[in-house]
Amino acid sequence: MAKQVVAVVGRPNVGKSTLFNRVAGKRISIVEDHPGVTRDRIYAEVEWLNYNFTLIDTGGIEPESKETILSQMRRQAEIAIETANVIIFMVDGREGLTGTDREVASMLRKANKPVILAINKVDTKEHSPYYYDFFELGMESMVETSATAAYNIGDLLDEVVKHFPNPDENQEEDDVIKVAIIGKPNVGKSSIINKILGEDRVIVSDIAGTTRDAIDTPFTDGEDHYLLIDTAGIRRKSKIKENIERYSVIRSFTAVERADVCLLVIDAEEGVTEQDKKIAGYSHENGKGMIIVVNKWDLIEKDTHTMNKFTKEIRTELAYLHYAPIIFISALTGQRMNKLLETIKFVSNQNAMRVPTGTLNEIIGEAVLLNQPPSDKGKRLKVFYGTQAAVKPPTFVLFINDKELMHFSYLRYIENQIRENFGFEGTPIRFMLREKD
Ligand code: GDP
Ligand code: GDP
Repeated sequence: MAKQVVAVVGRPNVGKSTLFNRVAGKRISIVEDHPGVTRDRIYAEVEWLNYNFTLIDTGGIEPESKETILSQMRRQAEIAIETANVIIFMVDGREGLTGTDREVASMLRKANKPVILAINKVDTKEHSPYYYDFFELGMESMVETSATAAYNIGDLLDEVVKHFPNPDENQEEDDVIKVAIIGKPNVGKSSIINKILGEDRVIVSDIAGTTRDAIDTPFTDGEDHYLLIDTAGIRRKSKIKENIERYSVIRSFTAVERADVCLLVIDAEEGVTEQDKKIAGYSHENGKGMIIVVNKWDLIEKDTHTMNKFTKEIRTELAYLHYAPIIFISALTGQRMNKLLETIKFVSNQNAMRVPTGTLNEIIGEAVLLNQPPSDKGKRLKVFYGTQAAVKPPTFVLFINDKELMHFSYLRYIENQIRENFGFEGTPIRFMLREKD
């Protein structure tokens, strides 16, 4: 099941950010510690009961924008409707119902998505003085919350996860490789898709469970089934102007969530942008396979060093994606397009690869012998053994004597040893540490 996305919509100052900070979870994985991932309050990973989901803040006023609150709210609502599985609509319980709230509610009601009304700033056990007014909005469920006092936040999340599909029922087909094509407008995403589809590949129209979006294109190549998730298509369908970066980033998130492999498309003439970094960071954190695609390679004047120079720059800008293959293509001339499809299949397999515990422990054992673990105040880190607990992304549990003694750099070293032996090219790897005596 693709990870669920929950969007928070609401007027400025009702308490969206406060809620956000309350529920943003800490990740167990210590690999999260990497520098370079842009932290931004656009999204947070939330764990509640047995669920993990992504919370998106659709708010945030663009500094250069001269829009009225109402048109900003329309935009927020539209993007929430487009990207989220469940929407939290937050209002101010101390201020009461406003005209803007009514407008937003009417948009949300038409969308046919579950909406939960959070009446915030209700800091005592008493109802908001305007509680009964809010019934007018016709929302299916209403929860009174206090984001500052952390009151009823659990009830709110309970209501949210109620609307998630039962994980046993909603299995998307597993033999389909889902590919998200992400990147700024005009880098060539549509051209790449057309090129991929243009060859002898068969476009299949009706694979059960994969046709949830008109812009998804399923196709087969020999025995292999693929699904292309096109964020460019979403843009064209939408009435929203794409000059607001935040919104285009949020849209890409949803595509990334659903994908196995992400193609981050970069314009060779433009290089890596801030927006690329955000989306790439999100893909990394969500454990997706990643290929960095430098497109429009035909426009670059080349000598023998050009490709190396480009590679170096990208490795510096997107340091945490050290595992991602970089491929230089031209969707216009078709250069290396065949290689691209091959790489997608390869990375998808690497992302789903499971390695034998015996071999893994031989490698860990050797690594520890070769490079002594760190120590502190006379106590030395011991790595007893490891096992691969999950795939997509490959996740390793390491049993050690003391978590405090594990350094990021030593974990990175073990990661490198594992990669040297098994590959895992194109996929992030996660570690979980367990203490035992
Ligand atoms: P946003 O613009 O919707 O993200 O709103 P913020 O989260 O920035 O909150 C705006 C103001 O309302 C801040 O001063 C918060 O401290 C305050 N606030 C947020 N939630 C509550 C709440 O539950 N009770 C009270 N009394 N104040 C709150
Ligand atoms: P999207 O917005 O990312 O989907 O980008 P498009 O596929 O619409 O491409 C934007 C522009 O770049 C179009 O004018 C394309 O013809 C052009 N373009 C796309 N790929 C290439 C390429 O490899 N080389 C050159 N020279 N132009 C390209």
